Amino acid sequence: MVITEIFKSIQGEETRAGLPCIFVRLTGCNLRCTWCDTAYAFHGGTKQSVDEVAARVRALSGNGASRITLVEITGGEPLLQPETPALAEKLLAEGYTVMIETSGERFVGVLPREVIKIVDVKCPDSGEADMFDMANLEALGPQDEIKFVIATRRDYDFARDFTAQHELTKRVREVLFSPSFPDPAGAWPGLDARELAEWILADGLPVRLGLQLHKFIWDPAMKGV
Ligand code: SF4
Repeated sequence: MVITEIFKSIQGEETRAGLPCIFVRLTGCNLRCTWCDTAYAFHGGTKQSVDEVAARVRALSGNGASRITLVEITGGEPLLQPETPALAEKLLAEGYTVMIETSGERFVGVLPREVIKIVDVKCPDSGEADMFDMANLEALGPQDEIKFVIATRRDYDFARDFTAQHELTKRVREVLFSPSFPDPAGAWPGLDARELAEWILADGLPVRLGLQLHKFIWDPAMKGV
C-alpha cells in the first residue's frame, strides 16, 4: 500500500465526531475537488504492507482499557488501492471499528459489510459533479453515512434534491451536509456554516449539519490531526 500518514487524533466529522480515532491516510486521488484540503496526499507516500500498517495502528491505539478502538481509512481516495479491503478485513479481525471515507466515485461493495462507509456525493461546485457511482446506493446500509460538502447555494439545492430523489434518509444512518471550510491560504472562500444551517432549517430537512471539529481545535492548515 502507499501511505501518506498514520496518526492518532480526534474524529472530526460524522456521527462519531469527538471520539479518539486512528487515521490511516492513503496516497493518491483520481479527483481534484476545488476545495480539497488534503492535496498533500495526492503524491509521494511510503510503501507499506498491510501487516506493517496494522502494526502501526496497533502501536498507536495502545492496550487495555484505554485502547483506541476506532480506525478510519481515508485519503486521498482509499479505494484506488487494491489492498484496502484486505486492510479493512485485518483491522476488523483485530477488533477495531473500521470506518472508510471515500469520494463515492468507486464501488464500496468491495469492502467487508462491517466497514462503516462514509460516502461523498460530489456537488456541482466541487468541480467533480456526476462522478458518483450510483451502484453505491444499493451497497450502503443502516450503519453507513452519505456526505455532501456544500460550497454554494447551487450545491445546497443539488444536495437537497438528490437526497429527496433517492430517499437517502431511508437508506443510511445519516445524511450529512457539511459547509466547505475556507482555505487557510485563501484559495477558496468556504461557506458560512450559519448560512447552511438556516437553509436546512428553512426547508425542514432531516439531515445533519456536519462541521470539521479538528479545524476548530487545531490550526486549520495543520496536517496529521
Ligand atoms: S475526493 Fe477527497 S482527496 Fe480527492 S480531490 Fe476530492 S476532497 Fe480531495
